[in-house]
Amino acid sequence: MSSAPVVLEVSDLKKHFPIRGGLLGTPVGHVYAVDGVSFSIRRGETLSLVGESGCGKSTVGKSVLRLFPLTSGQVVLDGKRIDDMPASSLRMLRRKIQVVFQDPFSSLNPRMRVRDVIAEPIINFGLAKDRADLDRRVAHALDTVRLPTDAAGRWPHEFSGGQRQRIGIARALAAEPDIIVCDEAVSALDVSVKAQIVNLMQDLQKELGLAMLFISHDLAIVEHMTHRVAVMYLGKIVEVADKRSLFGAPRHPYTEALLSAVPVPDPTAKRDRIVLQGDVPSPIRPPSGCRFHTRCPYVMDRCRKEEPVLTPDATGHLAACHLHDLPASQNPLNKAGPTAFRAA
Ligand code: SF4
Repeated sequence: MSSAPVVLEVSDLKKHFPIRGGLLGTPVGHVYAVDGVSFSIRRGETLSLVGESGCGKSTVGKSVLRLFPLTSGQVVLDGKRIDDMPASSLRMLRRKIQVVFQDPFSSLNPRMRVRDVIAEPIINFGLAKDRADLDRRVAHALDTVRLPTDAAGRWPHEFSGGQRQRIGIARALAAEPDIIVCDEAVSALDVSVKAQIVNLMQDLQKELGLAMLFISHDLAIVEHMTHRVAVMYLGKIVEVADKRSLFGAPRHPYTEALLSAVPVPDPTAKRDRIVLQGDVPSPIRPPSGCRFHTRCPYVMDRCRKEEPVLTPDATGHLAACHLHDLPASQNPLNKAGPTAFRAA
């Protein structure tokens, strides 16, 4: 995995939305939705971006897709900078980076037959040599997502939620992308259907060697399907590690609290739930120092003044927390972590 080429590299990405007020709509402040986020994804790898709603994870996805201009930072796709690419040059970007949205009911045009839904990106990007090649590609895309060929002649409303999400994935794959952004792609589905779609995506990733940015608030799903995890809080990444390391021994108090809320599959396993006090602060006025200090059960004086930086341990597990500057015996994160994950 580590020798695979990097497909997507994001450096110090910021997206601040202006807030306008008064009759003239003059800027009166900013929503600091994403405030200095960096990560990379290699071919064949899934990186999951997790955190509570409003933490900025979907804004990262939309920034990478260039759905709006960035405030600052760099996004490099297949070795080419795309953050400063003019709109007229974004065509090839749209092919290489595809998206699967959360809601399979509204993301498909109800007036287009499935065949036309899947054919659209193939035609737009000039991928088919002729009509026969177009038909072959549509049939292949349906087959790839395990839908029958006769699905092509039917309408989106004739399918269940899970089948519609398969159609959405087929449409994304038809563009022959290098990376797929899945924005809460299974959140709207029933539990059993969710598992089927997650298994399908895992299989496809292995078969096709795709890179995947999986944006989700559902850690149980993330644990099942990801290689690495980046945890976001209030516009910043606070922890990044491979799945086993992060779920087994979280190095940030916020991650520890998130994991404590994940249902344990083994009823004999014991885990104490950590209930965070207070609400997530406003991204308009983020707290000073560590942004998590208003809710952190281990807050120290230093945390209110000094912002911690993402720092790796000996294994490369990154965390932004002052606790790691304490002697190991005084670091409360070194106590036994979430039992179920430690056993994994
Ligand atoms: Fe908590 Fe301080 Fe670590 Fe922030 S830096 S997570 S407030 S202990």
